[in-house]
Amino acid sequence: MKAIRVHKFGGPEVLKLEEAATPKPSAGEVLVRIHAAGVNPYDTYMRAGTYAVKPELPYTPGSDGAGVVEAVGEGVTKVKRNDRVYTAQTLTGAYAEYALAREEQVHLLPAKVDFKQGAGIWVPYGTAFHALHQSAKAHASETVLVHGASGGVGIAALQIARAMGLRVLGTAGTPRGLETAKREGAHEVFNHNMAGYQEQILQTTGNRGVDIILEMLANVNLAHDTKLLANNGRVIVIGSRGEVTINPRELMGRRASIRAFTLWAITPEEEADIHAGIFAGLENGTLRPIVGTELPLAEAARAHKEILEPGSAGKIVLIC
Ligand code: NAP
Repeated sequence: MKAIRVHKFGGPEVLKLEEAATPKPSAGEVLVRIHAAGVNPYDTYMRAGTYAVKPELPYTPGSDGAGVVEAVGEGVTKVKRNDRVYTAQTLTGAYAEYALAREEQVHLLPAKVDFKQGAGIWVPYGTAFHALHQSAKAHASETVLVHGASGGVGIAALQIARAMGLRVLGTAGTPRGLETAKREGAHEVFNHNMAGYQEQILQTTGNRGVDIILEMLANVNLAHDTKLLANNGRVIVIGSRGEVTINPRELMGRRASIRAFTLWAITPEEEADIHAGIFAGLENGTLRPIVGTELPLAEAARAHKEILEPGSAGKIVLIC
């Protein structure tokens, strides 16, 4: 099979398209013919060797794939050959024509969701679902600011928050991103590259502030986020690419809090809840993964460059 292999940590150029042996499923494992693989920012941190999780070299990147079950190992009952599935982590990497996964890492894909969309499910929707339901414990009567609403996690968060009944504000940095955020569920959108946009957000809430902020770039925004919160507000830190100084008094006066998580650390019970919620939302059409860019597997290096550039409008997926 063809697969992207990384033999040493480094820049995007270390992603090499190679011939590799097609894996065989052992007991409890599933072999998936991957049709599309989702590219996530953490794939780039891992490839650079700077991420908390450092894979053993050589390795194939990718946790989010979608395709068809090719074969199952002994004892597997959850899926069978020819089932359409998405992966939430794999054993051998999703940037490949075939990926091996444990039975519990494979989930049925509703008929109305195609493989490219299926490649944009796990990390974006799992993160957004955990942030809103399990971390922020959001209520329908609340207002959420999705700070970075044009990317994978942001779009998922807009759709989930709208389905939950919240008032939804979103930010993006380009006209295309703003249009995408509006279309996917934001009641109002703001350009995070325009001076004074935080003032506009406050004004939109009648200076009350927002109840929840889902923060995609905490090192840039966290200090100011604390000033945008309503009483009992909470910032959920999802993404950060550096350090930041905040004034705790902004939190004290508002009885506010900052919470943070990584998807790696969720419990099996939380994960089961997430997949049930995602499946229901995909099936009833409230969740619709948006593909912004499709690239062939051979162009994984280009995908890793583009995912870190501004101007998001949906997921980048590799066609395998
Ligand atoms: P993505 O698809 O690349 O999107 C990045 C988003 O950040 C875009 O909406 C982008 O908007 C926005 N952004 C850029 N500058 C910003 C600013 N100054 N203020 C607010 N937002 C800004 O990435 P993603 O998959 O959505 O992930 C978002 C972040 O969360 C990444 O840092 C990722 O590593 C992290 N993450 C963490 C977890 C976790 O477990 N904690 C899970 C998934 C993702 P424009 O392009 O329109 O400017």
